[in-house]
Amino acid sequence: MTDRLAPGRTIGILGGGQLGRMLSVAAARLGYRCHIYDPAPDTPAGQVAAQVTTAPWDDARALAAFASEVDVITFEFENIPTQTLDLLDRLRPIRPGRQALAISQDRLHEKEFLQGLGLQTAPFMAVSSPDELTEAVARLGLPAILKTRRMGYDGKGQARLDQPEDMAAAWDMMAGAPAILEGFVSFSHEVSVIAARGLQGDVAAFDPGENLHKDGILRETRVPARLSGAQRSDAVLMAAKILNALDYVGVLGVELFVAKTGLIVNEIAPRVHNSGHWTQNACTVDQFEQHIRAVVGLPLGDGDRFADVVMENLIGDDLDRVPDLLRAKDTALHLYGKPEVRAGRKMGHVNRIIR
Ligand code: AMP
Repeated sequence: MTDRLAPGRTIGILGGGQLGRMLSVAAARLGYRCHIYDPAPDTPAGQVAAQVTTAPWDDARALAAFASEVDVITFEFENIPTQTLDLLDRLRPIRPGRQALAISQDRLHEKEFLQGLGLQTAPFMAVSSPDELTEAVARLGLPAILKTRRMGYDGKGQARLDQPEDMAAAWDMMAGAPAILEGFVSFSHEVSVIAARGLQGDVAAFDPGENLHKDGILRETRVPARLSGAQRSDAVLMAAKILNALDYVGVLGVELFVAKTGLIVNEIAPRVHNSGHWTQNACTVDQFEQHIRAVVGLPLGDGDRFADVVMENLIGDDLDRVPDLLRAKDTALHLYGKPEVRAGRKMGHVNRIIR
């Protein structure tokens, strides 16, 4: 247990994307400085942070210099190379800690961990050869989804199998990477819970949001989600169980399928989450401030919201719709400062308060 970090101290953030940008803005509001580490120049977070290091993940000297200039380290994406974390871990506290990262970096470990907590997941089997895929398909049946164990996000590194003939192409898509086969979950809709745990072990959760995906990318989060009171409590309790089991410090996203058999955990993200952006305009303390509060050892906000809200992601050319979107009432715009518009690229989002 460490003491609270005083305002004016520096939070190191690994990754310079939009999540790092919004974390930096929240930290600045609380009086902290942020130092971004990212291999790419001119990042969304770098534009708004007090300090930036532009260096590769395996640059030991740059990492050591970065660590010496910050008081605590956090991150905005989970696929940080292990060697980078090994080096930094010896120099400064990393929050949330290594265990949460190790589990969420590997879909097999993640599912085993969740089942170990007594939570429902899709049925799964590890697959590291075409023979193992054949066996897994025989056991789990079709349809099923083959996913790389590591480095998958936004539906990348995944192949759906509807018939046995799909096996060869699906296996080729993994490009030799270890994978897991997941039985197809029949769900009515997808929701997520954004929850936080503070340095002293206090836990707070936001209301679950309902998520709409297209082409594997989140398009929209609606709050409240279509859930019964019992399901709502269940979702929050599941998130708290995960946070406590990991001795977690910071914000965590838990993605759930709403199925006839109950809530099924799809995956966990050990960071602020796209499906929590609505909190910026419908809560007094949003997920970014909540994460910073946790990381520096401040008391958490309570997670209450004061309005219904729809968050819409602005992807690629959606940017052209901004003037029209802003003509609607009660609409807040958040753009990420990405210099180049590309198809499928998240450029910003709007939060529309529903009264
Ligand atoms: P993921 O990258 O694991 O979040 O998967 C991306 C999307 O694919 C999810 O949001 C679901 O819509 C769908 N999906 C993933 N796994 C399954 C599954 N086991 N059964 C049904 N749909 C799934």
